[in-house]
Amino acid sequence: MGDAGKKKTSEEPKKERETVFRSSSAAKTKKKISGEALPVASVREEFLTVVRENQVVVLVGETGSGKTTQVTQYLREDGYSVVACTQPRRVAAMSVAVRVAEEVGCEIGTEVGYAIRFEDVTSASTVIKYLTDGVLLRESLRDPDLDAYGAIVLDEAHERSLNTDVLLGILRDIVTRRRDLKLVVTSATLDAEAFSQFFGGRAPVFRIPGRTFPVETYFAKSVFEDYVDAAVKQILQIHLSLPPGDVLVFMTGQEDVEATCAAVADRVGRVGDDGVPPLLLLPMYSQLPAEMQAKIFEAAREGVRKCVVSTNVAETSLTVDGVKYVVDAGYCKLKVYNPKIGMDALQVTPVSMANAKQRAGRAGRTAPGYCYRLYTERQFKDELLATQVPEIQRANLASVVLLLKSLKVKNILDFRFLDPPPRDNILNSMYQLWVLGALDDAGNLSALGRKMVDFPLDPALAKMLVAARGCSAQVLAIVSTLSVPNIFFRPKDREEESDASREKFFVPESDHLTLLNVYEQWRANSRSDSWCEAHYLQPKALKKAREIETQLEDLVVSKNNDVPLVSCEGDWDVVRRAICSAYFFNAARRRGLCDYVTLLSAVPCHLHPSSALFGMGASPDHVVYHELVMTSREYMKCTTAVEPEWLADLGGIFFSIRNDNPTTTTTTTTTTTKRKRDDAATVPEEARRPPQNSK
Ligand code: ADP
Ligand code: MG
Repeated sequence: MGDAGKKKTSEEPKKERETVFRSSSAAKTKKKISGEALPVASVREEFLTVVRENQVVVLVGETGSGKTTQVTQYLREDGYSVVACTQPRRVAAMSVAVRVAEEVGCEIGTEVGYAIRFEDVTSASTVIKYLTDGVLLRESLRDPDLDAYGAIVLDEAHERSLNTDVLLGILRDIVTRRRDLKLVVTSATLDAEAFSQFFGGRAPVFRIPGRTFPVETYFAKSVFEDYVDAAVKQILQIHLSLPPGDVLVFMTGQEDVEATCAAVADRVGRVGDDGVPPLLLLPMYSQLPAEMQAKIFEAAREGVRKCVVSTNVAETSLTVDGVKYVVDAGYCKLKVYNPKIGMDALQVTPVSMANAKQRAGRAGRTAPGYCYRLYTERQFKDELLATQVPEIQRANLASVVLLLKSLKVKNILDFRFLDPPPRDNILNSMYQLWVLGALDDAGNLSALGRKMVDFPLDPALAKMLVAARGCSAQVLAIVSTLSVPNIFFRPKDREEESDASREKFFVPESDHLTLLNVYEQWRANSRSDSWCEAHYLQPKALKKAREIETQLEDLVVSKNNDVPLVSCEGDWDVVRRAICSAYFFNAARRRGLCDYVTLLSAVPCHLHPSSALFGMGASPDHVVYHELVMTSREYMKCTTAVEPEWLADLGGIFFSIRNDNPTTTTTTTTTTTKRKRDDAATVPEEARRPPQNSK
């Protein structure tokens, strides 16, 4: 590694893992690409010694010190067989792997590769593998001791993502069984003691000495109504009146990032062609195409200011060099479990003080910098939590419970978590799984549940696939299209045309069937890009859905004793029934024109204006939905009309059919089948057990 920054000369023997420069972008940033100038490089030997002497090491270092890109290479060079490095974010896993492949001088997918859900870019020769924490968790199903790896880096542990937290619990046991396995838990923040304690205090904390520069922080003087607007003004003010230096702006999600970029571009254009210095505006969010994402790392031309507008992926996962000014809108999008409706929703939430500090720190990596917070000091003190609540304490745990159950964790309430989730969340998730039929009455994995675990999908979608009768081909296509971002394209200036085009695909009783319809027509039209363009569809999303379909199809067929897929041959009621079997939990009954109320939790909700069921004359009396989204009001997204008899039949635990007044446990129609259930009988036994003393 030491001589990696130099050009190779012919006398030098070709070492296998020597860093060479292949790509042109690598050559441009030659000094950096070796990683030898990074803070971690100065402590390489000490670090490796600590790893040799300890099985678990907690590694702490400032963002940008080289933890993610270098430590895997060090471990590999020190002889550990395959090195895995987990990332909570897909974008980070891909981007960092590409970077490390460049540093190592190999094609991505050979020695260095990555694996994210539905995308495995590794091969038999892969020795450094970046993967999402979710993928590693799933690998533990097949390989309970993770024997495939000699060393595992649990990166970004301070983020406390749900899957990383579960992995911590699982790895805590694995390291006692596999003495040869090395585990490095990395954290960008100083409060690493908790991780060390979690491993019985036996894991030393190794700190990368970091040099940071002072960052002057400014708060807003008054509360802003609109943070996009405030950010735009702040960016312009920096650009037009402050000395050279790149800008990093923290926004919440894709829409805000795009809106900010569009508004700034518009103003910079308008301020006057001469006089306004050029500004290179670069958006960054997870759904951005990879080529565009890579641009944030490139230096701007001489004399051009770079301005990256990003979601919180740039907070610690990715480091943009050369940032002098940070603009912090003060919000991020968080997945929050809403027990009222029994599901996760992405919510715009104020960041924590710790996040705010991290964000500010991005401005002081290489020189003194400035941070502009778009919130008042009072808001900072009164409204921000010291640290964010870990995802495990606010998320729906159904997937995790299913996974732990199949890892033979008997009593989830006793599982060792760094911060245990609220008991009610676990019980609630177990209840959901029991309702879906994945757990039996004793709280053990049922035969159905065992099949569901095989699919890297939410439990409801997995159930839909596993339980599809007579229409597995159609359900497979629906699940695949639901697993990609929007397949419809709705450009800002052509909303009417694109909406009209979308309506032509509508199947009036179902958004799921509408997706299927698009997918089948796309196939019938040779999956052509020009056909997509003409019909306002996203070819990339459809192609991705196709890839997912292929992968899931292999799973369905192989798990089903090689029984091929079955087509319903146009009998779409069969498909709607399959959808109902997975989503009866999310059933709603009509109260007004487009107004509904959920049957199980009595939450008022509405058909989404983009739904095929919206404004199609008489809206159906009963529907099931894929998810509820909360914007100005609660909307059902992806909705399908169902027959009340199906609800009674498939969700008999909750629904029966009768003609008197509805209660939450009934649907209303004219038939009269009454069913009464003892409430206690609806809770799995394990869930009913009295709390146990933890040992
Ligand atoms: P840490 O994990 O400690 O935050 P990293 O290893 O991610 O640090 O980053 C080290 C350096 O590598 C930073 O200077 C960063 O800018 C650079 N880097 C990381 N990923 C990329 C990439 N995809 N392209 C270009 N440079 C990158
Ligand atoms: Mg990192």
